[in-house]
Amino acid sequence: MERENILASDQNICLHVDSESFAGAIIPPTFGNSLFTFNSYEDYVLGETNQQNKCVYWRGTNPTVEIAEKKLAALERGETCKCFASGMAAITAAIFNSVKSGDHVLSVGNIYQSTDELLNYLQKFGVEHSTVFSVHIDDIQNAIRPNTSLIYTECPTDTNLQLVPLKKLASLAKDNGIRTIVDNTWATPLFQKPLTYGIDIVVHSASKYLGGHNDLVGGALITSAEIMKTLFKKEYLLFGSSMGPYEASLLLRGLQTLPIRMKALQDTTMKIAQFLDKHPAIERVHYPGLGQKQFSNETKHQFTGFSSLLTFELKNAEHNAVKSVINKVKVFKIGVSWGGLESLIITPNLGDNEEELKKKNINPHIIRLSIGMEPSEDLINDLRNALEQ
Ligand SMILES: *Cc1c(COP(=O)(O)O)cnc(C)c1O
Repeated sequence: MERENILASDQNICLHVDSESFAGAIIPPTFGNSLFTFNSYEDYVLGETNQQNKCVYWRGTNPTVEIAEKKLAALERGETCKCFASGMAAITAAIFNSVKSGDHVLSVGNIYQSTDELLNYLQKFGVEHSTVFSVHIDDIQNAIRPNTSLIYTECPTDTNLQLVPLKKLASLAKDNGIRTIVDNTWATPLFQKPLTYGIDIVVHSASKYLGGHNDLVGGALITSAEIMKTLFKKEYLLFGSSMGPYEASLLLRGLQTLPIRMKALQDTTMKIAQFLDKHPAIERVHYPGLGQKQFSNETKHQFTGFSSLLTFELKNAEHNAVKSVINKVKVFKIGVSWGGLESLIITPNLGDNEEELKKKNINPHIIRLSIGMEPSEDLINDLRNALEQ
């Protein structure tokens, strides 16, 4: 398995814009206008009836947002992309497009908590939701019900960072006429391209690596032109949670440095993961970059690199130990979200939810790190001090 294999074509997609379209501007202009005007009634009708391809109104198509969408579609090797006001907005649109009353949604492994809550909320509309806490294809197959219309997963899975065999999953789903959605936020399109394995829809939180600087909340959805045709008219236009042009310009700036950031983050994170893996106070490190033991034959070739979010479980721990590590670190900041330049530490253990976590197959003594751009020695020393109890 190769590491650090960011394709030259992807680097070019991230960096360049077609500057000829905008009078040679090296950075795309930010179109801050809420509406566009027309030269004639006929032009207006053409726009109004084809808002996916014509600029009519902010909630539909905006030239600055469209540049980011074209880049993300190209990076994922997908036909079309729409950008949203948040990752959750993109996820909501993808899920609502894929289910109707009476359907069942199957989640594979742990997924982002708000997505899990959204899927449970759909019960209100007569949609069932269940989770299979296994990434083995036989277990997934056994969890499919006659009314399953959607399989939803993240690869790697949330918190335990297990690897889902996407090619097998996509073909299992296709055989059963089931739609598949993969949240690819962790790997970014640079390190994993789910659509190339037959997955139907990829969703992203652009608030993480794609933006990359903790100054943007946004989302993206990449899929076939066929799926996008209805999704644009319904879940995109009607839910009204499109990305604005100012956010898109931050996203475009973030994308320019995505390849170099991912390379640097991966290098530092490997060092941290190796340090943690050998530490006597630690039971287990979850990080796909640690190598073969984290992979099955099916997932070995799925990644060309690894990002900078990892988790580890404390050995023989109590809640106080988790609390103490988090309070002792000085370089790592305590905070939610991830994928920016500053290293962050957090735990899903809120003190009163240990039983809930266990039901989700999560060790309550788990700590999550988002590695940033600080020198690796500083981060390792910080963790070494904090882990000395
Ligand atoms: C943050 C996150 C989301 C939600 O994205 P927002 O931009 O916060 O709405 C979804 N999935 C994953 C994996 C995330 O990390």
